[in-house]
Amino acid sequence: MPTRKNKKIEVTVIGAGLAGTEAVYQLIRRQITVRFCEMRPKKSTGAHTGALFAELVCSNSVGSNLPDRASGLLKEEMRLLGSYFMDVAYKYRVPAGNALAVDRGAFAREITRYLKGHMLIDFVNEEITEIPEEGLVIVASGPLTSPSLLKSLEKLVGAKHLEFFDAIAPLVAAESVDMSIAFKGDRYGEAGKGDYINCPMDREEYLAFVDALLKAERIELSELEKSERKKFFSACQPVEIIAESGVDSLRFGPMKPVGFADPRTGKRPYALVQLRQDNLLGSLYNLVGFQTNLKHAEQQRVFRMIPGMKNAEFVRLGQMHRNSYINSPEVLTPTLQLKKEPRIFFAGQISGVEGYTESAATGLIAGLNASRLIQGKEPVVMPPQTMIGGLINYITFSGHKDFHPMNANFGIFESEDGAKGDLRKELIIRAARRKLREFYDQI
Ligand SMILES: Cc1cc2nc3c(=O)[nH]c(=O)nc-3n(C[C@H](O)[C@H](O)[C@H](O)COP(=O)(O)OP(=O)(O)OC[C@H]3O[C@@H](n4cnc5c(N)ncnc54)[C@H](O)[C@@H]3O)c2cc1C
Repeated sequence: MPTRKNKKIEVTVIGAGLAGTEAVYQLIRRQITVRFCEMRPKKSTGAHTGALFAELVCSNSVGSNLPDRASGLLKEEMRLLGSYFMDVAYKYRVPAGNALAVDRGAFAREITRYLKGHMLIDFVNEEITEIPEEGLVIVASGPLTSPSLLKSLEKLVGAKHLEFFDAIAPLVAAESVDMSIAFKGDRYGEAGKGDYINCPMDREEYLAFVDALLKAERIELSELEKSERKKFFSACQPVEIIAESGVDSLRFGPMKPVGFADPRTGKRPYALVQLRQDNLLGSLYNLVGFQTNLKHAEQQRVFRMIPGMKNAEFVRLGQMHRNSYINSPEVLTPTLQLKKEPRIFFAGQISGVEGYTESAATGLIAGLNASRLIQGKEPVVMPPQTMIGGLINYITFSGHKDFHPMNANFGIFESEDGAKGDLRKELIIRAARRKLREFYDQI
């Protein structure tokens, strides 16, 4: 198919999410022509809300920005490799303490505008139901890949797809939060100053809240969903499931009051709900750690019991979601190519990574390697000592018995000389930086 420049299409990319947009950018910056396919808004995933590319479906935080955190190291590597996702994320950054959070609307609009209008891209607004039979293809259709495409992928990879469920947190209008009760502040920061809005609770309020949460009606799960629920990441448990594990579990988890003093009393609250800024204007805030599967009316009733949120206006409510990914250790190479058909690459959550930045990172590598094939070069393997290479090494390492998606963390690296704690982390970071520089010189 000719592009607007009448050049032959060299690579097809399926999915305009975080991985797909990054992969496409890496291709066009190397002057490669792309057929870019996205099914929204004609067909919905059930979680995305509109037609924009690179939609951040849940939190607007893309993780820690600190250089000594796994997520910070991942970002550092991506920036060095020329990540588009990082460039736009920093451009539309909103205050969020040490985390990198973005104005999701401005972020997605910029990426959509740039890629949709690009001369090297033919944008196809259709659901792809079969993998093209010829040419290079990058599959970046995400955790909510359409069922027809999943069927086609199942035939292709010859392995059973795995699914599990996650949950998203509600979003409230900032102006609807009562700031005579709630207060601004960061953990261990100066009272009254900081990025988060905090809703403090005393003991009675907390116990009544937990009781209501446990009794609230939930969305009925199918038998399949119930069995899949067992595969939840513990870090993404619905708030009501956390509450089930003991009356204090929330105030030692997402409602931890440590490092805060209620300005009204000068004392540490018994528990506390944190709200994080969600857009540049500061008009929307999300409830940190409040992913939930409660029925929508119940969410409104129970969450309005949170002090300061009696009249909260919920702009979006929480929900459960499906996650699809391939059995990468069996089917993918460390260059992100399908073992049995190397013209096909996988990137993003469908490849077995977890998280926004991780998805974009694999998009970057798939885009880079597809470009190299076009240019007649060998695809490259990221050094496993780097955060990106470590992740890819993890998802393509065939030793996993029960494979689940993985996010950036220091646990995926082997310990050097038995070092532990901060020293271990420091050695990993140093090795990653050294290896990344060598890799950079090679590409
Ligand atoms: C509800 C939900 C909440 C999440 N919350 C977070 C979070 O807060 N933080 C975090 O770090 N990660 C989160 N994740 C996990 C993950 O990081 C994101 O899903 C991320 O967007 C994955 O990037 P991706 O590019 O792989 O997929 P996506 O960003 O989902 O992009 C895939 C694209 O492919 C399109 N598509 C699917 N099938 C087809 C088809 N057949 N033809 C054409 N187009 C197709 C989709 O419409 C979509 O636009 C969440 C996931 C979900 C589902």
